[in-house]
Amino acid sequence: MSRTTSRRPRTAALDRAACIAHNLWWTWNPDARRLFEGLDPAAWEASNHNPVATMQRLADSRRAALLADTDFAHRVDVVEKHLSGYLKSATWFGRSHRGNDRKLRVAYFCMEYAFHESLPLYAGGLGVLAGDHLKSASDLGIPLVGVGVLWKYGYYRQEIQLDGEVRVLYPENRFDQLPVTNTGKTITVPIGKSKVKARIWKATIGRIELFLLDTDLKANKPADRKLTHHLYGGNRTDRIRQEILLGIGGLLALDALGIEPTVFHLNEGHAAFCGLERLRRLIKAGMSFSEAQETVRGSSVFTTHTPVPEGNDRFETPLFNRYLGHFASALGLTKDEFLALGREDESDRKEPFCMTVLALKLSEHCNGVAKLHAETSRQMWMKTYNAASAKDVPIGHVTNGIHVESWLSDQARPFYDRHLKPKWVGAGPEDDWWRRIDKAPKEDIWALRQLLRRRLIAFLRERMRRQILSHGGDAAMIQELYETLDENALTIGFARRFALYKRAPLIFRDVKRLAKIMGDANRPVQLIFAGKAHPQDTAGHEFVRRVQSYARRAPFRGRVLLLENYDMHIGRQLTQGCDLWLNNPIRPMEASGTSGMKPPLNAGLNFSILDGWWPEGYNGRNGWSIGSGETFTSRAKQDRYDAESIYETLENEIVPAFYDRNRKGVPARWVRMVVSSMKSVCCEFSTHRMLSEYTDGFYLPAHRS
Ligand SMILES: *Cc1c(COP(=O)(O)O)cnc(C)c1O
Repeated sequence: MSRTTSRRPRTAALDRAACIAHNLWWTWNPDARRLFEGLDPAAWEASNHNPVATMQRLADSRRAALLADTDFAHRVDVVEKHLSGYLKSATWFGRSHRGNDRKLRVAYFCMEYAFHESLPLYAGGLGVLAGDHLKSASDLGIPLVGVGVLWKYGYYRQEIQLDGEVRVLYPENRFDQLPVTNTGKTITVPIGKSKVKARIWKATIGRIELFLLDTDLKANKPADRKLTHHLYGGNRTDRIRQEILLGIGGLLALDALGIEPTVFHLNEGHAAFCGLERLRRLIKAGMSFSEAQETVRGSSVFTTHTPVPEGNDRFETPLFNRYLGHFASALGLTKDEFLALGREDESDRKEPFCMTVLALKLSEHCNGVAKLHAETSRQMWMKTYNAASAKDVPIGHVTNGIHVESWLSDQARPFYDRHLKPKWVGAGPEDDWWRRIDKAPKEDIWALRQLLRRRLIAFLRERMRRQILSHGGDAAMIQELYETLDENALTIGFARRFALYKRAPLIFRDVKRLAKIMGDANRPVQLIFAGKAHPQDTAGHEFVRRVQSYARRAPFRGRVLLLENYDMHIGRQLTQGCDLWLNNPIRPMEASGTSGMKPPLNAGLNFSILDGWWPEGYNGRNGWSIGSGETFTSRAKQDRYDAESIYETLENEIVPAFYDRNRKGVPARWVRMVVSSMKSVCCEFSTHRMLSEYTDGFYLPAHRS
């Protein structure tokens, strides 16, 4: 094969590499990533690992050198063959589903998607989940198309000054430097009095197509152009307009592309207007309202993602009527009957219109994202169903997962190949490689852990050096950091959005006690933080300031770090490198949480409140719980209780387990827990398992109806 390749025109190699860069499959293929990095390591770094931008910035001399390099052409060949082999491989869906089920076609709607740090169309966990959902749908061969928005500025870039003040920046996403292509199709979406034009872009994720809407077109009025500028920015009017674009515009986009889904999956309530438009069409075609409602409900899947009130969008009646009021007559309903579609209490004429309620009323297949979250959701939405008891509320659960290959460290892969022998391509949800972990020598597991921590420390030194310098810090600060950061110390990570309920600074409740735990010269502990607060969340930014103030002063200086601009890259580094992953939300506000599913893949352990996924994941031997699920109505009491549990567990269990070494220098008890953690978490909390549950429990029943 390589002989035929060398006869191809010499320009082909770079063009073919550009083709590979336009399939986001490369984000979970280490050879592809190394290929792109090798093009120009400095440009790769400067572009936050963006292969399209890296190729555009190649100097002429470098371009010429690459084109003359037969070894480079060969490496492109190899990666190209991986990709085409992947696309042709047999899949779980193909193997296990026959007949009419094969005609399934799911349309998946989400406001944000996170595939990679170089495609910043996400704010946090919801986007990461959606990205991992599409990646696993590709691996498993599930027929699904995604619908979303191509954000021009996306979420924000966070800079943390030395004093803890946050600067919020919005660098522009240059679409010509993103792995998206213009489909050449535009649609016109009626939004209020405007007819907004939206261009349809396409991103490709393995076998999956994702269509992204962009209204920043010259043909639009300035206010309409801004619709796709800022993810979760702006006021209520901006929000309702964006949700019309996603829900109704998304449906129009599928029409324009000739795609006829049999199932609609609304990932969070943002896209629920899609159901209104579907109702309107069915009624126009002659159905009664109730027939249309049954049809829409039967083919709709809705996933609710949070009990936090701000996460469940509500619109005041005048605003809602201004933008959606015309639907009432189109659906043959009175104004009040129509508004009742978004009200928990249909007789309450003051209740604002709630997107979650609309989605629940228009979807037969509803779920929360963990078992506990579904219980919470059934309690929360009783009124919507006029239910006398929470158990009568038809909200089930599909516990979230992560896309394993995206979160697995490259440095862990040789260990996996040697001891677990995974065959990633073509694997299904039943392929549990981690069963074999018992056979791996404890020393090898520990060696992997040490390697991943050391790699993290190197990353932290480099990142913090840049961060300190860019904010006017001096060489002495960097020197101190280099000396204090310890490759062998127990390293605890905490990275997530700085939302109030996640309580980032909780561990500092008793500063003296924490200082004693961390400062023991024989058993040192270091703590790494990262996270963004919503730009308008002043309390969240206060958390950032507090954590930064501890990081700056004795006795924590050099042992507590706060990295700015948490993104998928930092997320990968921390979840791969940390020994212990700390999670202390107020129960039951953390619907699922997925960051804690990442460390077990990389021989890390969890230390978490029994909230979200952890009550399902925790078995007493695979990590630690903070408390045992106690909840108090007083916030101060809750904080005191949970902080006490954190200190006690660190002092009596975690630190000793990490530092008690056997003759070979291995902490045997710690490694036993790592084994238990890998076995119980990695397969069970993967998006492969999650997608198989959505497919068999939700998509196919909805498709058959
Ligand atoms: C995994 C991940 C999340 C989700 O974290 P939670 O535990 O759900 O808060 C958010 N952001 C990034 C960048 C991630 O990698």
